[in-house]
Amino acid sequence: MPIFEYVCDECGERYEKLVMSKSTKIACPKCDSSKHTIQLSVFAAPANGAKASNGGSSESSGGCCGGACGCHN
Ligand SMILES: [Zn+2]
Repeated sequence: MPIFEYVCDECGERYEKLVMSKSTKIACPKCDSSKHTIQLSVFAAPANGAKASNGGSSESSGGCCGGACGCHN
């Protein structure tokens, strides 16, 4: 679902709105101004760096699961 972050042009308040349609009224919760700048939501950013740490290290000595599941004696 599209959540957008806005910065009020009048008072600088940052707020987020769940936008269901283009007719959704956007107004600052602080000063009720409709003047705003749309920021990129953090939820919309691709998380490409998350997989970088899973490089298959040989440091683990307990087999597939470290012995926690009992499949390894
Ligand atoms: Zn405002």
